[in-house]
Amino acid sequence: MIIAIDGPSGAGKSTLGKMLARALGLLYIDTGAMYRAAALAVVEAGVDTNDAAAVAACAQAAQIELAGEPDRLRVLLDGHDVTEAIRTEQITRLSSVISTIPAVRRDLVRCQREMGARGGVVLDGRDIGTVVFPQADVKFFLTAVPEARAQRRYEEDKRKEPGLSFDETLADINTRDRRDSTRADSPLAIAADAVVIDTTELSVDEVFARMMEVIRERVDKSKVQSPMSNVPSQP
Ligand code: C5P
Repeated sequence: MIIAIDGPSGAGKSTLGKMLARALGLLYIDTGAMYRAAALAVVEAGVDTNDAAAVAACAQAAQIELAGEPDRLRVLLDGHDVTEAIRTEQITRLSSVISTIPAVRRDLVRCQREMGARGGVVLDGRDIGTVVFPQADVKFFLTAVPEARAQRRYEEDKRKEPGLSFDETLADINTRDRRDSTRADSPLAIAADAVVIDTTELSVDEVFARMMEVIRERVDKSKVQSPMSNVPSQP
C-alpha cells in the first residue's frame, strides 16, 4: 500500500504521516528531509548555490538515508546523523531553493521510488501524488490557512531559535509556498484524485480519524472491486 500526503508546509503532513505509518505498520518516508539533507550537503561542501550544475552534482554525490521507526526517524548524510542539523532556518530556505533544480529532483525521486517499491509506505512531500507515485492507493492533500500553518511552525521553531518572530515565520512560509507552487518542475499541486483536508480548525486526532476513514473506504473498495475486474464486460 502506498499512501501519499502532499501539501504546503505546516499543514500537518509529517505529524499525520508518522501517525498513519505507526497505525498501519507502514514505513514512513519524509521526502522533505531528503531535500533538506541535500541542501546541507551543499552548504557543507561550500558550493555556490547559484550554480545549478554544481548544486546538482553535490546533491547527487550525497548519500542520503532515512533510518529508524516513524517516531524516531533519523536522517543520515554520508553516514552522519543530521536529523537536527537539517531543521535550521538556513537549511529550510535553501532546501526550497535547490528543490527547483530538475537534476536534484530527478535523483531524489528515483531514490523515493526505490524506497517505495520495497513495501507499504506513507510518503509526505509536495509531489508525491502527482509525480513520485501517481498510482498511490490513497492520496491526501493537507492544507490550512497560512496564519495557522505559520503559528504551528513558530511554536516548533521558537524553542530552537529564540530570536524568531511570528511575522518572520509567516513571511518565510509564504515565500516558500510561492516558490514550491510556481516552480516549473513538479510544483506543489493537488492531484485530481486526492482527498483534500483543511486542517485549520481540526485537531490532530480529528484529521487522523478522517484520514483513517478514507483509507478504510478506499482500501476496502479496491479489495471488493478487484475480483470483479476479471469479469468480462457484457456485449
Ligand atoms: O517538507 P519540508 O518543509 O521539510 O520540505 C523542505 C522543502 O523541500 C520544501 O519547502 C520544498 O521546497 C522541498 N520539497 C519538495 N518536494 C518534496 C518535499 C519537499 O520540493 N517532495
